[in-house]
Amino acid sequence: MTLTDTFNRTINYLRLSVTDRCNLRCQYCVPRNLPAVGGTRDALSFDDLFRLARISVGLGIRKVRVTGGEPLVRPGIVEFLERVSRIEAQPQVVLTTNGMMLKKLAVPLREAGVRRLNISLDSLKTETFASVTGGGDVKMVLDGIDAAQKAGFPPPQINMVVLRGINEQEIPDFARFAVERGLNVRFIEYMPVSGDAGWRAHFMPSSEVLEMIGREHRLTPVKSMDGAGPARYHLLGDGPGMVGVISPISEHFCSQCNRIRISSDGMARGCLLREDTTDLKPFLASSDEAVREILTTIILHKPERHNVTEAESRTGQGWVPMSAIGG
Ligand code: SAM
Repeated sequence: MTLTDTFNRTINYLRLSVTDRCNLRCQYCVPRNLPAVGGTRDALSFDDLFRLARISVGLGIRKVRVTGGEPLVRPGIVEFLERVSRIEAQPQVVLTTNGMMLKKLAVPLREAGVRRLNISLDSLKTETFASVTGGGDVKMVLDGIDAAQKAGFPPPQINMVVLRGINEQEIPDFARFAVERGLNVRFIEYMPVSGDAGWRAHFMPSSEVLEMIGREHRLTPVKSMDGAGPARYHLLGDGPGMVGVISPISEHFCSQCNRIRISSDGMARGCLLREDTTDLKPFLASSDEAVREILTTIILHKPERHNVTEAESRTGQGWVPMSAIGG
């Protein structure tokens, strides 16, 4: 079965957040002027999250990305991932993590059937990393990346949110890191989802990122790649290292958007950058058929596109921090 929305997009990708708690406090994700998230509404049980994953897979979802907050801080996460990867239709189960706990968990995650890891890393410098993440230790993430590679995962995709004036000078260092490690580094445009009034000052478009990298490396566009999602990839020199750019603001990719999102408290949304959400809890209290119907409605009525542009950011009230949505 496949589901196609009213704009002829096949929706086959679910981003499922299992917690809004995190062991870091990245400034663009949970801005420090906001009260700590978490605790206001309870997260769904793993049974309910599993039920949502199973029913979604029955509707044509082929890839389930488990995210958070930090998914690895929730006790029982490895068993949950194993359960989802054993759903009969065998969805591709992938994980987005800040990598802080990977040293210990890389092998169990691989054994649980997780196919691929995206690891967030915004700076290679001890102080900058600690400052952006509210106290994180970059060495733990680097050790986590090593552990993931040793555990046999395909080269992890490293996500760096580009912040002008904060980590932009490290863009060439990240390209070198990709070359040395044979990894893919993806530079993500900073999205104004955090109520951060300083968003505009720190926003840097992907075109500038590629220009910076192109001064040092020969960049060859890569046409299509498994797991690329919205990233536009370029081979660095002769490879295998690659860089990708994700440009939700300067060059939105809504016409190819194939995803829906469910947050840990059971709020579903068809678009990351729109406020419309549907509370799935009342449906979870009912039959599988009721859940199937509401998920179908959400997919069919997925908005055509987001309405945030470089010129017009949305940082006012009503915006939910990314940590509560799952990215
Ligand atoms: N804790 C995990 C992690 O750090 O990867 C998963 C959750 S995090 C919300 C998922 C992704 O969203 C990360 O790659 C993060 O960098 C990205 N993200 C969060 N806030 C963002 C923002 N304002 N703009 C762009 N990307 C953002």
